[in-house]
Amino acid sequence: MNIMPNSAAARDVAYYIHPQTNLRRHAEVGPVIVSHGDGVFIVDENGNRYMETVAGLWCAALGFSANERIAKVAYDQMRKLGYYHTYRHTAHESSIDLAEKLIQLAPVPMSKVLFQCSGSEANDTAVKLAWYYQAAMGRPEKIKIIGRERGYHGSTIAAVSVSGKPDMHADFALPLPMMRHTEYPHYYRRHTEGESEEEFSTRMADALESLILAEGPDTVAAFFAEPVMAAGGAIVPPKTYFAKMQAVLKKYDVLFIADEVMCGIGRTGHLFAMEVEDACPDIITIAKGLGAGYQPISSVMASEKIIDAIKQGSGTLWNGHTYMSHAIACAGALAVLKVIEQDQLLTRVRTQGAKFKKMLEDNFADHPNIGDIRGRGLFWGLEIVADKDTKEPFPANYNLAGKIKADILENGMLSYPSQGCVDGIRGDHILLAPPYTITDDELVIIIETVKKCLNNQLSKVNS
Ligand code: PLP
Repeated sequence: MNIMPNSAAARDVAYYIHPQTNLRRHAEVGPVIVSHGDGVFIVDENGNRYMETVAGLWCAALGFSANERIAKVAYDQMRKLGYYHTYRHTAHESSIDLAEKLIQLAPVPMSKVLFQCSGSEANDTAVKLAWYYQAAMGRPEKIKIIGRERGYHGSTIAAVSVSGKPDMHADFALPLPMMRHTEYPHYYRRHTEGESEEEFSTRMADALESLILAEGPDTVAAFFAEPVMAAGGAIVPPKTYFAKMQAVLKKYDVLFIADEVMCGIGRTGHLFAMEVEDACPDIITIAKGLGAGYQPISSVMASEKIIDAIKQGSGTLWNGHTYMSHAIACAGALAVLKVIEQDQLLTRVRTQGAKFKKMLEDNFADHPNIGDIRGRGLFWGLEIVADKDTKEPFPANYNLAGKIKADILENGMLSYPSQGCVDGIRGDHILLAPPYTITDDELVIIIETVKKCLNNQLSKVNS
């Protein structure tokens, strides 16, 4: 089956800029033009069905066609109050109910929430809250923000600057000058011979402490981390990592911002991934699963100490957007949370995730070119290596990830192989994060297609 869209068949979409698509290549291969959704599938305008192995951009947690319980809530809200915001001392029912619900569900005590439209905006706001907090506490020079190499926090100017992604900075005047990056906890790649996960975590915390000391503790405002890192292929924190990192942060009065944009609202089998970590973030951001992709909504949750600082400071947070706490988005997110609860989807992520893990291990653990299989819940990564013993990746110019991705697409599946940078060398991995509603049979299709296309492309590389 060859369903790869091409410029002859695809409609002219030349007026679009597709981020992460090379505009020069765009002329040769047209995009998939999506017509509608059907469970975990999307259907293009020619009727071709593609299974979505990454829930769109890891957000369509319940599939691509909203069920009646959610669609009706959005419709009713649109009729009742199609738009309102929470700027300048206003609120509306669905924003109040959603805020209350999130405060109840938060993994650590949180005081207030703020709703926006994307993970990037939420993270930009978290940066501003950290600056506000430190200044209000009488430390206006504490402005540096520490992210991690390969961390990803969004595309807006502050969020991408905190991200440890030089490729995303290169064409712009970025990162912002007050952003720093510490080591990322990629145990598989970076532990030394015989080093346990706990010892490795100690080394990561030592590296953080060294960076804070080198910069001057009086200049560092906050540390940003995703519980499980997507960039790099589902990098799971090694044992004791967050507890040790937080001990360092506390020592130097550096805030901990947990970016749960990707992991939050069920992706790892828990409502919040931080629930299973021994750490207490001061600020948490969430987005993708919150609206299940049906509504563009994100949230920043701030603890009492941050809110107290605002009260002691100017009392006003000069940070708002026209569509903040959008009435339909808040109502939609509430409906999504209700469906997650009613349909016991957290349990489902855990059971399907355990099955998926076993399938991945059964099919790839002995594969000569899969160096590592890692993840949690329905969030998994396969790291591709040229040599399993040395962990040497394939050379960048093979573009193995790109070829696997194209092959998977030809086989009726949208996927996210990518060629990240592993310690200075480009290395390939495949990220898998399907909707929570995925069935056993659909998981089998993912495994079989990925395996077939991986082997197909490896045979070409090796021949
Ligand atoms: N943070 C994390 C961990 C993400 O994975 C993403 C998006 O992939 C973002 C932030 C940015 O979110 P958005 O694309 O909604 O701006």
